[in-house]
Amino acid sequence: MGQKTMQIADTVEGLRAARAGLKGRVGLVPTMGALHAGHLSLVEQARADCDAVMVSIFINPAQFGPNEDLNRYPRDLPGDLAALEKAGVDVVFTPTPDLMYPPGYQTWVDVTDVARGLEGERRPGHFRGVATVVAKLFNLFQPQAAYFGQKDAQQAAVLKRLVCDLNFPLEMVICPTLREADGLAMSSRNAYLNPEQRRAAGVLYRALSAAGEFYAAGQRDPNRLRATMLDVLRAEPLAEPEYVSAADARSLRELDEPSDEPVLISMAVRIGTTRLIDNLLLPLTLNNRADLTAVLGG
Ligand code: AMP
Repeated sequence: MGQKTMQIADTVEGLRAARAGLKGRVGLVPTMGALHAGHLSLVEQARADCDAVMVSIFINPAQFGPNEDLNRYPRDLPGDLAALEKAGVDVVFTPTPDLMYPPGYQTWVDVTDVARGLEGERRPGHFRGVATVVAKLFNLFQPQAAYFGQKDAQQAAVLKRLVCDLNFPLEMVICPTLREADGLAMSSRNAYLNPEQRRAAGVLYRALSAAGEFYAAGQRDPNRLRATMLDVLRAEPLAEPEYVSAADARSLRELDEPSDEPVLISMAVRIGTTRLIDNLLLPLTLNNRADLTAVLGG
């Protein structure tokens, strides 16, 4: 098989020209770079489903709060491009913030209910930034399918709502979270952790798994599920839980009462200055691409 070269676009015109050269079903994988195996699993899925694959690398300032880690967010463009080329990606878009938000920019996309709790509550404006940049990327790339990770479950739910409400003619695909050997969800932010913190970070998955097992044994009380996660987290001195949640997986509303509908258990935990998030869908059998895509965000 002949090796095709990957095109790199850093202007709107360049991207549109590269897009025009692609035939058939085109898949898009939006990222903020510092790519790891989790990102590459989305690319692989897109390759399996589509005739061509496009990736964006853009650290979107609009989705970071004033006291968040925008300035120190990990960057590795040469490494990312090498990994994407090897993965068989057709087009990579690497815009600057000024290209996406030129002077005078004033159009924003606000998804309401599903963006309100969980991360939306703790990171005001975050999903407005995410929805806006992804709407722009959809308009620029005109993909037939777009790939997102379960790792950012609320983001996936918000973007499903966006696609439905704004009539984007594309299929959303939500892929399961890739994990390290101890269960830690792969994340660009894991690079912030020192060895001691990295060891402690395994506690997120242990807490989620404990609640998952409790659920599998028949426990449906959301208060008990949340308490189980907190108990495990509190046993790790380096972990500071910001929230734990047991929410309806379709609406993402926090549960007060036992429910037989799918439940999203999730958490944000600080380890030192690093904020980590993770989640599982319950029952545990739903943590696969087809069920995640169907259930998360309704
Ligand atoms: P980010 O670069 O963090 O914005 O992530 C880009 C995409 O990769 C998002 O759709 C994430 O949900 C997804 N992603 C991040 N980490 C993982 C992971 N560990 N497994 C699968 N997908 C992931």
